[in-house]
Amino acid sequence: MKQYSIVISLLGALLYGIAQSVAADNTKLEDDANRIAAEALKSPLAYQILESLTTEVGPRMAGTEQDALAVKWAVEKFKQLDFDRVWTEPVTFPVWQRGEESASIVAPYKHQLAVTALGMSIGTPEQGIEAEVVSFPTLKHLSEADPKQVEGKIVFINHKMERHRDGRGYGPVVKGRGAGAVEGAKKGAVAVVIRSVGTDSHRFPHTGMMRYADGVKKIPAAAISNPDADLLQRIIDRGEPVRMHLQLDAKIVGEYTSANVIGEITGSEKPEEIILIGGHLDSWDLGTGAVDDGAGVAITMAAAAFIKKMGFKPKRTIRVVLFANEEQGLVGAKAYAKAHADEINNHITGSESDFGAGRIYEFQSNVQSDALPFVHQLQRALKPLGVEYAGNQAGPGPDLIPLYRAGMGVFSLEQDGTDYFDLHHTPDDTLDKVDPEALAQNQAVYAVFAYLAAQYEGRLDLPEQKKKQ
Ligand SMILES: [Zn+2]
Repeated sequence: MKQYSIVISLLGALLYGIAQSVAADNTKLEDDANRIAAEALKSPLAYQILESLTTEVGPRMAGTEQDALAVKWAVEKFKQLDFDRVWTEPVTFPVWQRGEESASIVAPYKHQLAVTALGMSIGTPEQGIEAEVVSFPTLKHLSEADPKQVEGKIVFINHKMERHRDGRGYGPVVKGRGAGAVEGAKKGAVAVVIRSVGTDSHRFPHTGMMRYADGVKKIPAAAISNPDADLLQRIIDRGEPVRMHLQLDAKIVGEYTSANVIGEITGSEKPEEIILIGGHLDSWDLGTGAVDDGAGVAITMAAAAFIKKMGFKPKRTIRVVLFANEEQGLVGAKAYAKAHADEINNHITGSESDFGAGRIYEFQSNVQSDALPFVHQLQRALKPLGVEYAGNQAGPGPDLIPLYRAGMGVFSLEQDGTDYFDLHHTPDDTLDKVDPEALAQNQAVYAVFAYLAAQYEGRLDLPEQKKKQ
């Protein structure tokens, strides 16, 4: 009996000792996280990176000369920031060229419209297309319309986007941008023009991707600015036939091979295990891609660089991936997932920054229940940065979709996107729209997230039931 009690008390003391040292490690870790946060909040690093990208490269649409320049810029920037490894991986895709574009209302009144071709649209014949306009409030209304209403006409989808902090107004409206040309062509339309998918009332049209479908005739697709959409609708509402002229030079010209650019801070204990953060390096051509997605590039490069700069040694590797050609179909993301298919399991978790430069106000996780101690640790560490925990339902950033589908747990660090869709894919997406303090807060949140995830001992996989979906 006596021996047992000695063993038990020794065991108790041992367990107590372990618990104490775990608690001490956790306290140390949380202190480190607080130090990273405090320093990163004061640092202009992300803003300096964003200034450099938007000034030295500017617009960088996939397949253009500036795409190549952006890749070169990113490689050099990673090296300047003292990343341990820097490399590129090839990404090949068809090259879409915009060319000249114009649109006008020709009857019953004459108006020039602010127009932009949608990405991947074909052009019109050289002399343009002139036809009567038929208007629908949403894609669904077009899909349900009698083809006799549509045949031979230019379809106008006038779906107004709602403004919300989390950007949820985008999903329902962007369907018309993606599928408007297919639905219109099925009913005999000669072109489709949409109200811009955006919340602003400036005369800037918003570009973005559209799609064709096999077996459906390809028709040109464009967006007009929101004030022009209002004007067009007012004239249509007067009841007389309205005629529009549309001229687009857009076309596909061969193939191009760009690159995902990758930099990492190599893990000191488990270098093969990866915490992935990043954004997409390409942008649309109209603005300088400051908020979409120069901000994400700058935030994540700065966050990882910061950890090393402060002398911390992450146990796992922190990898920053700057994806090629997100805008025209997640091409870089698919190439990355394919190239790393046999080490997907080593991708412990990830978070992409691709929603502008607004402050992060909440975060969500999407991990199995035994990883919740990590989530709570992150919750404590992010609270001083004004970030609340909002549940275990995080969706992946666009470029993380292939990795998420392969089972990687994800975190979403959710930014205030109230103004994001005023700028998104327009000539107005420029550096002056970015608040340096908000950008620094993003850099601090990403640095804390990446560091704590790198130090965490356990896995951060998706919950089992989600993996099977
Ligand atoms: Zn983006």
